[in-house]
Amino acid sequence: VDEFELIERYFARHGETRDVVVGIGDDGAVLKPDPDRELVTVIDTLVSRVHFPSSIDAYHLGYRAVAVNLSDIAAMGARPLWMTLALTLDDANPDWLEKFAAGLFAAANEHDVALVGGDTTSGENVVVSVQITGDIEPGRALLRSGAVPGDTIYVTGSVGDAAGGLACIESDRASEYLEQRFLEPTARVECGRKLIGVASAAIDISDGLYGDLHKLLAASGVGADVDLDAVPVSAELREQFGADEVRQFALGGGDDYELCFTSAEDIPKTLAGVAVTAIGTVNASGQLTLRDQTGVVPFEDSGYLHFE
Ligand code: ADP
Ligand code: MG
Repeated sequence: VDEFELIERYFARHGETRDVVVGIGDDGAVLKPDPDRELVTVIDTLVSRVHFPSSIDAYHLGYRAVAVNLSDIAAMGARPLWMTLALTLDDANPDWLEKFAAGLFAAANEHDVALVGGDTTSGENVVVSVQITGDIEPGRALLRSGAVPGDTIYVTGSVGDAAGGLACIESDRASEYLEQRFLEPTARVECGRKLIGVASAAIDISDGLYGDLHKLLAASGVGADVDLDAVPVSAELREQFGADEVRQFALGGGDDYELCFTSAEDIPKTLAGVAVTAIGTVNASGQLTLRDQTGVVPFEDSGYLHFE
């Protein structure tokens, strides 16, 4: 298939909603934003061998490419609307493309996101960039910078599962639950919407709880005390791995796409059907201190840095 047949066959659909004036097929998409709302735009790129093992199947690559962007939209408290897709492929295998498109649209359709354009090129490496634009009530976006001393720190769901899942995928260990948490992360879009006016700051956990909370605290100019025994970890992760690995995955493992946020309010135990757990308190120290029953716990963040 040539580039144009490929776009027509796999991607030119799902674009016809009320707020898309011109979708795929022209030089650009023409979109109709709600004049009373602000736009929020995010982009994330997945590169073969850097962001995913080359063994990952096309369906899950498509799914993840959308989900990781939805997670950024969620962390802003926004409502996702439109996406574009830049695809670099080493070859145009119809079976691969069929599965990739199925995963991509499965994730997009969960939130009614329309694919309105993109770019298709050939190259040596598989590279997938998805850009999503959403909208939000003016002035209400959840920022990283609003945490103040005294706020409670919360996380949604459980952390460490995706890193545990990736470790399973890359070894002979098998856990369907953990692998699924890596392959099909659930962006907490509805939680993000419910946190508007409630959270003082928010971030999504893509690089690990420790590193991402650190970014939130730095943006807010504050510090925090975190109770490691309160950090929510799934029974399955505990079952599959020893205590040290569980802690490493929970604090330093990426790809969970849960939300970490701060609030002066008491947050209910569940939000939009997702468990929410208090893990610590914001203070003015400027430091992130981790504690368990034994006292202060040192932590060496091994979060992935590009160009290091
Ligand atoms: P141009 O040469 O003007 O940039 P293209 O020929 O690259 O346009 O693309 C034709 C149309 O197909 C455009 O509307 C573009 O947004 C869309 N498109 C190209 N690749 C993709 C893709 N992978 N997914 C969705 N739409 C795509
Ligand atoms: Mg053009």
